[in-house]
Amino acid sequence: MIMTLQDRDKKHLWHPLTQHKLHPDHLVITKAKGALLYDEAGKEYIDGIASWYTCMYGHCNDYITEKLHAQMQSLDLVVFSGFTHKPAIALSEALIKILPANQEKLFFSDNGSTAVDIALKMALQYFANKGQKRGKIIALEGGFHGDTFGAMSVSGLSVYNGAFEDYFIDVERIEVPTKENFKTVKQQFTALLSENNVAAFIYEPLVQGAAAMKMYDAHLLDHLLDIAKQHGVITIADEVMTGFGKTGLNFASEHLENLPDIMCLSKAMTAGTTPMAITSCSQKIYDAFLDGDITKGFFHGHTYTAHPLGCTAALAGIELLQTPETQQNIKQIIQSHSEFNAQIKNHPKVSETRQMGVIYALDLNVKMERYGNLRDKIFKAFMKKGVFLRPLGNTIYILPPYIITQEQLSKIYAVIREVLDEL
Ligand SMILES: *Cc1c(COP(=O)(O)O)cnc(C)c1O
Repeated sequence: MIMTLQDRDKKHLWHPLTQHKLHPDHLVITKAKGALLYDEAGKEYIDGIASWYTCMYGHCNDYITEKLHAQMQSLDLVVFSGFTHKPAIALSEALIKILPANQEKLFFSDNGSTAVDIALKMALQYFANKGQKRGKIIALEGGFHGDTFGAMSVSGLSVYNGAFEDYFIDVERIEVPTKENFKTVKQQFTALLSENNVAAFIYEPLVQGAAAMKMYDAHLLDHLLDIAKQHGVITIADEVMTGFGKTGLNFASEHLENLPDIMCLSKAMTAGTTPMAITSCSQKIYDAFLDGDITKGFFHGHTYTAHPLGCTAALAGIELLQTPETQQNIKQIIQSHSEFNAQIKNHPKVSETRQMGVIYALDLNVKMERYGNLRDKIFKAFMKKGVFLRPLGNTIYILPPYIITQEQLSKIYAVIREVLDEL
């Protein structure tokens, strides 16, 4: 008997964020191009979330794959400690040009979680190098920063982290600021900072992705950042999700007055081609590590640091982001979302809608577990109709690749409406 790919998958593979007892089957995808995924049977699915908001210039983008092909034939990898290479240098020049003005230095790693762990280590060692004992981190409730230990520690407590909570680093959480709670949040934040043991404040600027695209006000965040600055606390903007155009500007931090000391970048940076992340920082942070004493250096390094392919993809991605076509597409998606919103927001199954740039989310007025049965039913209904969306509990969100056609976008909207009508 010939085993199907799906059967062979079950033999040895362990999938992320999956309870295999409940969800044994995984759909085999054989091809991806532009905004489309294709399964074994040749069925098409519109990738409505750009594969976790990475493939923003479309799957297998010709411009990026050609650059990767050329790079692959000249330099695959060289140790980035003691050596350097043109792809990293060219990327650094292009990225610094578009990052907020105070960002000066780039440190490479492999994924969003490591970018966050590095940011936390930079903040903690910054104070250690200055002979100050500051060991506490402040984070926002419901935030998501990744799954390695540091990143998990600063993420909002979740039922899925139960086995590890006793081993988290020292973190205090404050509520995401709203007009209603701001007085209390500000008081609590100020009280925490007054103890002079806080090293850093980490936040997802303006949109908390994994918290079901929760959006919050730039002025309120700026107010908290003012207070952090007054207390000499290092501010860390986790832009792993929001970076590279999602909020309508290149980075969500550009909507704020206060520039972050440190930024975490990954996901769309390499446009879905190869895993790579960057933790960027200001000159002030970097200078605290410059010393005749070798131990004051930053002794963190991953084997694949600054992989030439990742650097090449990221540089090509930045070039594409800056083209008038991409900028026009972003504007068009923003406009289309708001037109769809006007039509859907009063649907009897919808309780709330929100939009920031190309990120659009609607909440259903039906209670659902984050990975529960009803959520699965909706997910399957979308897939059956040829649209890949990944509802977070009772939130349906769209974060399409910038190259999506108007026709494909309209199909996503139509399918959402159909699924809501059938609910
Ligand atoms: C996805 C994500 C991470 C973690 O990135 P990985 O590459 O999955 O480790 C961190 N922060 C934010 C805001 C994210 O969206």
